[in-house]
Amino acid sequence: MAAGLKNKAMEILKLFKKIIGSKISVSAKLDKATALLADEFDVDASACYLVLDDNYLELFSAYGFNTKITNNLTLRVGEGIIGGIAMSKRTTAVENIWQNPDFLYRAEAGEDKYKSFLGTPIIRWVRSIGVLCLYKKDLYTFVKTDVEALETLAMAFAEWVASDEVREYKNTFMKKRGQAIKDSYKGLSLSRGFGIGPAVVHRRRQTVTKIFADDKTAELNRLKAAHTQMNTDLEQKFNESKLGLGEHADILDAYRMFAQDKGWYNKIAGYVDGGLTAEAAVERAYEDMWNRLSATQDTYLKERLHDLRDVADRLLAYLYGDNTDIKAADLGEIVVIAQTMGPADLMDYDYHKIKALVLEDGTPTMHVAIVAKALGIPVVSKIKGIYKEIKSGEIVAVNGDDGMVYIRPSQKVIDDILAKIAAREQQIAQMAALRDLPSTTLDNQHINMYINVGLNFDLDYIETTNCDGIGLYRTEIPFMAAEKMPDVEHQIVYYKNLLDKTGNKKVVFRSLDVGSDKLLPYWTYSGEENPAIGWRSIRITLDRRAILRQQMRAFIRAAADKELNVMFPMIANLAEFRDAKETLMLELDKEKRRFAKVPSKVNVGLMIEVPSVVFQLDSILQEADFISVGTNDLAQFVFACDRTNNRLAERYDVLSVPFLRVMREIITKANEAKVLCSVCGEMASNPIEAMVLLGLGYRNLSISGASFGKVKRMIRSADTTQLADYINTLLEYNQRTLRPQLIAYAQDHGIEIF
Ligand code: PEP
Ligand code: MG
Repeated sequence: MAAGLKNKAMEILKLFKKIIGSKISVSAKLDKATALLADEFDVDASACYLVLDDNYLELFSAYGFNTKITNNLTLRVGEGIIGGIAMSKRTTAVENIWQNPDFLYRAEAGEDKYKSFLGTPIIRWVRSIGVLCLYKKDLYTFVKTDVEALETLAMAFAEWVASDEVREYKNTFMKKRGQAIKDSYKGLSLSRGFGIGPAVVHRRRQTVTKIFADDKTAELNRLKAAHTQMNTDLEQKFNESKLGLGEHADILDAYRMFAQDKGWYNKIAGYVDGGLTAEAAVERAYEDMWNRLSATQDTYLKERLHDLRDVADRLLAYLYGDNTDIKAADLGEIVVIAQTMGPADLMDYDYHKIKALVLEDGTPTMHVAIVAKALGIPVVSKIKGIYKEIKSGEIVAVNGDDGMVYIRPSQKVIDDILAKIAAREQQIAQMAALRDLPSTTLDNQHINMYINVGLNFDLDYIETTNCDGIGLYRTEIPFMAAEKMPDVEHQIVYYKNLLDKTGNKKVVFRSLDVGSDKLLPYWTYSGEENPAIGWRSIRITLDRRAILRQQMRAFIRAAADKELNVMFPMIANLAEFRDAKETLMLELDKEKRRFAKVPSKVNVGLMIEVPSVVFQLDSILQEADFISVGTNDLAQFVFACDRTNNRLAERYDVLSVPFLRVMREIITKANEAKVLCSVCGEMASNPIEAMVLLGLGYRNLSISGASFGKVKRMIRSADTTQLADYINTLLEYNQRTLRPQLIAYAQDHGIEIF
């Protein structure tokens, strides 16, 4: 920037900042700012237009014009010179507007006296949110320094226009017109995390307009060509995608099989043969299937309708010649907005660049959600109408933790989301810095730190955290992601993959823990009154013994020559544990009789989740090789408080006397019996709660990968001897929660819990 320009721009900026920082109304600030423009640029008139509702510009402030036109003059984006600037996002200088073909004369504005014009867009991210204009009565050629100074000022304007005060002000005008900007939506979070970026609206569903074909043979050829091309492209996408083995690869395979299904193709071809256009035939074939399946109560079949719709839409796009992939590379980081999506649709984009996914319709068991989650992409669904509301290129911010989606976010929201992203990145950096440091407390107590694994994606944490192993492998997660109940061979692939990735580190396999909030899409559930205390988890697999036997067989075969640790969930008494253990031992015997390779050592344990087992611990500890406390379920049963009920979420605290006494009882008994005891519920993943576990005597924690760094930092700053003394005295108190005292204690003793 030349010295002269720099001075000019800086001077105007300084004055502009003074105006917007002053305690006057937004309209007074706007008027002062346009007067400042006229003065500093030495022109006769100036104006500020702001974009409302994305489609039109409204004059919000004018200097040197008829004042009545303020908030009474609108232009469509693209209309006239000013609308053209908003559309093209380019600064435009015109020596004589009267000779410019784009000039749109508006008598009410009183522009008759002006000839020369300079306008620049106010751009926020990649969108025009307004236009600043300068006018001169004489013929004049605006020079480079004018242009650059105005563009610099427009940048400062952009920040201010996106601020809450201007947004609210603009909203009052929108409301008057009955068009208030709805800028935040609450949806259902399907995958956690935060993302921000310009929206890419995923392919709209095509409506079929031509029903009957003129030439049957030509139509069949067209269908064949589109179908072949679609499958060739899909094949290439699958090969290029580096999603790797695992449950999401299975999902994509299932999708591919659907796309290649001969029965489906022949049905469509049959309708074309009957005279329909290829497009109409695709719809007709879908309707047939819909009519047959939509009435079913079977969730698995219902989910298949989603897949079929996705494949049909994809084929329609090819038939309409609209199959060009979005050049996401040109857009950089994006937020994808879709009505609904198939898992393969994600591959239309470079998934490294997808910062979030927003769906009008989607359930947790929907395949695209599982794939996105595996890729670490935040997903929010069930937001009716958002697909129509957003245009590609508009900025969208997504909070996948609480399911909020913000369209055209205010500066405050942007700052908040960026801060959350930064905090998460900082956490990752901290974790990296802590990776090779020992998890030892100040009083030299070593804490074994494991991770909890569900999706393949979690396996990355083995390397990034340098953990001691997997303390809880939730085997139901791959079952939930599969198309149908995985057979022994499929299960062996999952388990072997996990063991290979874990190397020599320990892995604890938990047997299938389904039911309650974890539903398998291919099972029909009877709809119990109280599913959390109903037919779930080990209760199902003991009753459906073949499932348990097959899973034990798969564990044994996958862990041939290695140590195998098996843990049973939701055990309510010793008899149940014995029963489950016996099934494992029978399978082991069978394998031995086949002279098959078996694990070098087998350890069998159980989860402490149902309070009844706490009262039978003495006997159980004589027969279990290890135990692990599932504090999520244990807390819900100790307090009789449904863990999925939001109304009760804050009501009872694990950091309170009754629960901590139960936790103390468990670890004391386990230590006396010299049986390894860990915690794998969420309590171990929360630094303040994990701190209390150390004080109670726990030395084995299994943590979610994302929280590993925070907990390790806490461990390295804590003294377990001092903690034990303090917690023992606290357990004599009777407050509803001990959390405030514990936080204060951590702060006073330099224990890092945040
Ligand atoms: C628990 O209940 O604490 C536990 C770890 O199991 P899940 O959360 O999978 O039910
Ligand atoms: Mg549980």
